[in-house]
Amino acid sequence: MSSGDEHTRLAIASIGSIVAGAVAALFVPLRFVLIGAVACMVGELLLSPDLDHPAGCRAFRRWWILRAIWIPYQSLVRHRSPWSHWPIIGTAGRLAYLGVPLYGAACLVGGPEAVPELHRWATTHWREIVAVVAGVELSAVLHLVGDL
Ligand SMILES: [Zn+2]
Repeated sequence: MSSGDEHTRLAIASIGSIVAGAVAALFVPLRFVLIGAVACMVGELLLSPDLDHPAGCRAFRRWWILRAIWIPYQSLVRHRSPWSHWPIIGTAGRLAYLGVPLYGAACLVGGPEAVPELHRWATTHWREIVAVVAGVELSAVLHLVGDL
């Protein structure tokens, strides 16, 4: 159960997120704000910084039969280390940990045409990718506020 201080920190972080989303909506097309919001939710539910916890966490259990993916991560990254819990570094580490093998698998399955096709897709959809990364990063920052 959360303490009163924890509730206060999360409320302040939530208000900050709402304000940031409202400001972003003024300057960024709505679809990117929505993509970021969904990515923030996915970040909270599946890509938590606490995936480094050796005993697992709720996000770890949500991976269900795929949770084995995170076991090497848990043994490589100490709980609450900068590699999992610092802003930007932690998010980049988790996305790379998940993305590099997926990219490799896509290249293996898709054959030689897959690499240029993936690069073309990423070049075309870079704004969506930025929105996803920003949303996942926001969820990580909210997590860090809760850990303080
Ligand atoms: Zn944590």
